Amino acid sequence: MTRAITSATVPNLWSWRGLADVAFLDLRAAYAELQAEIGSAVGRAAASGWYIGGSEVDAFESRFAQYCDADHCVGVANGLDALCLALRAIGVGAGDEVIVASNSYIATLLAVTMAGATPVLVEPNPSTFNLDPQRLGTAVTERTKAILPTHLYGQPADLDAILAFARQHGLRVVEDAAQAHGARYKGKRIGAHSDAVCWSFYPTKNLGALGDAGAVTTNDPEIARRIRMFGNYGWSIRYVSEVKGVNSRLDPIQAAVLAVKLKYLDEWNCRRTEIAQFYGRELRNLRITLPDVPEWAEPVWHLYVIQSQSRDRLRSELAELGIETLVHYPVAPHLQQAYADLGHSPGAFPIAERLADTVLSLPIGPHLSSEAVEKVASTVRRLA
Ligand SMILES: *Cc1c(COP(=O)(O)O)cnc(C)c1O
Repeated sequence: MTRAITSATVPNLWSWRGLADVAFLDLRAAYAELQAEIGSAVGRAAASGWYIGGSEVDAFESRFAQYCDADHCVGVANGLDALCLALRAIGVGAGDEVIVASNSYIATLLAVTMAGATPVLVEPNPSTFNLDPQRLGTAVTERTKAILPTHLYGQPADLDAILAFARQHGLRVVEDAAQAHGARYKGKRIGAHSDAVCWSFYPTKNLGALGDAGAVTTNDPEIARRIRMFGNYGWSIRYVSEVKGVNSRLDPIQAAVLAVKLKYLDEWNCRRTEIAQFYGRELRNLRITLPDVPEWAEPVWHLYVIQSQSRDRLRSELAELGIETLVHYPVAPHLQQAYADLGHSPGAFPIAERLADTVLSLPIGPHLSSEAVEKVASTVRRLA
């Protein structure tokens, strides 16, 4: 009897040689590792009869606050709401200006406009990708209310310099930490350096839910109270609205999932760091720019972002060889149609524009195999 040749009997040549296609990020692997624990947490939340607020939310909030070294954590529906509610809680509103990095994720700007204020862009340091404190002076006006630095790609911004500048000019500081769960600045976890620190638990983040979720951490009890109130119809007590709030609450089922995943965050961040260090060693001395880490920063490598003058060619050649990469982000915020009203033309923020043309995110994640990491590094080395 002859045996039919099927794809199951003929091994894929790449995988047979340990060179399977490399996905950018494998979220199912993270779930598979914790399936039993997540299943029982979800089951417990579902059986509890509490579907808004309650003990799952309280437990996650207190564990995450403790993890971040913050006094308070307020769960909200997503990262964008976390940012917008934090800005509203510190008093940002119509007519105010908020300084953000010109290369940040669009949600950072959207939060400012959602709060009724105007984003004012400041160029980043191109080698760390983060807001350049030296340039803050050029952006301050009498309407400036706050600075909103993003810890982009998992690397902390230079908080001491930003906070010192803010103090000098009477400004508040809110951090966008949506990519920086577990990162440290000068040895201290991101979570309470400034007035309020905003988190997203979007599924792809270092700490990701199985859907949308977010939080704000702070050491200021009044800011925490106001965010909780704003996110729950502006109620100070039930049915009594002190302000025009919104509905933005952390789902208890997501809170239960996040409490499980939080236990593994450090271990998963360590694996990301190992991969980043491997890329850093293997990709030296090529015609690409590697991310620079200041000595006071302990990044958590949400993304590993290189810069290449021939980014699009490199990206498509990697794709042909089965390596998936992404671009974070291909269009600078000031050139987005949504922000045409800011009135900036091409050339207005050359660093952000150059980054949009040259950045390339290589696969990184806690479940990326060593073989995959080696395949990425050797392929980039050959092509770059
Ligand atoms: C993901 C992200 C957000 C928005 O979070 P959502 O939960 O998707 O609303 C904001 N800022 C940055 C830097 C992000 O990466």
